[in-house]
Amino acid sequence: MTNKVNAYGAMSSTTPLEPLVIERRDVGEHDVQLDIKYSGVCHSDIHMTRDEWGFNSIYPMVPGHEIVGVVTQVGTNVHQFKIGDVVGVGVMVGSCQKCTPCTNGHEQYCEQDFIGTYGVKDIYHNNEITHGGYSNSIVVDEKFVLYIPQPLLPKLNAVAPLLCAGITTWSPLNHWKVGGSHTVGVIGLGGLGHMAIKFARALGAHVVAITTSIDKIADAKKLGAHEVLLSNNPDEIKKYTTKFDFLLNTVPHSHNISQYVNLLKLDGVMVIVGALVPLDGLNGAELLSHRRVVTGSAIGGIKETREMLDFCAKHDILPDVELIKMEEINTAYTRMINGDVKYRFVIEMN
Ligand code: NAP
Ligand code: ZN
Ligand code: ZN
Repeated sequence: MTNKVNAYGAMSSTTPLEPLVIERRDVGEHDVQLDIKYSGVCHSDIHMTRDEWGFNSIYPMVPGHEIVGVVTQVGTNVHQFKIGDVVGVGVMVGSCQKCTPCTNGHEQYCEQDFIGTYGVKDIYHNNEITHGGYSNSIVVDEKFVLYIPQPLLPKLNAVAPLLCAGITTWSPLNHWKVGGSHTVGVIGLGGLGHMAIKFARALGAHVVAITTSIDKIADAKKLGAHEVLLSNNPDEIKKYTTKFDFLLNTVPHSHNISQYVNLLKLDGVMVIVGALVPLDGLNGAELLSHRRVVTGSAIGGIKETREMLDFCAKHDILPDVELIKMEEINTAYTRMINGDVKYRFVIEMN
């Protein structure tokens, strides 16, 4: 038996999102069903629905991987959650649970496959196609469901973006042990970038926002940046040559990374989290001259996501959000592409 659920999704890579009805599986013994209250809008939702990454997107596609909701049913073997709990679901809903990355809490690097919350075949659940948070309810294995810490509950409408934008920026800062002695640059001030500024500041780093948008300078400082650098001004960029210990690059499109590589000091690290496409400008001479590292990072594991949520609760860190209605999603996508969002859209589900 399956359950019909109202949702919003894309029928093809070239059509706007529209209302549709999807089917969710019955609640299995390890499953949690939640009534979705809020769903964040990630730039990946645009890339995926428009098939911009060449992943052969599967349609209809119901995006949404920043999900907050209330538990409405639990399977007979669920031990962590009960009806009425306020919980979240992020970018993953499955992984093999056996490989070394999985057993070390890095399910996003599962050697077999991690299952994305939407748009993929779930090999651990009868090959059903996953559908995301732009819907009224979802059924997820409890291993991929997260408690929302009590202190965050009064501001629940801002919590959802932590499940992707939050963990995707937290994980590399955590992995590379960014802290008090570091100068950190955050490239791109969108959903991910604004969270990175908040986290890096709370971790004690000297934070520089690196933006293409003059109109974000004042905001960047309010978000926690000590300095703001305009990336489309080559002279200004050059002044920061070899000044950075760490750069988090959230730019969503292909670009030449050379101008950023040159900002890294000895052993400096640039982590690419934004562009899932080939990047120009990697020059051996620029890397070896200062033993620089250019690497990438994908979301974060479940344990790390719990730690990130606890950190947010402790330090009162939440995204800056603009609430929208489900039927405003296509306008929201256009605004996001134009950089017109401060700094994350969150859909209020009903
Ligand atoms: P977003 O809210 O649209 O923000 C992206 C920001 O990048 C923009 O606000 C803009 O900031 C800057 N930007 C846009 N186009 C640019 C260009 N051509 N050159 C330089 N800067 C540009 O997007 P998001 O939701 O933060 O996502 C960012 C990227 O991360 C997306 O590609 C998304 O798919 C990817 N992502 C990856 C992971 C992962 O696991 N690694 C997880 C989530 C998302 P300024 O106005 O400040 O320049
Ligand atoms: Zn995302
Ligand atoms: Zn695995």
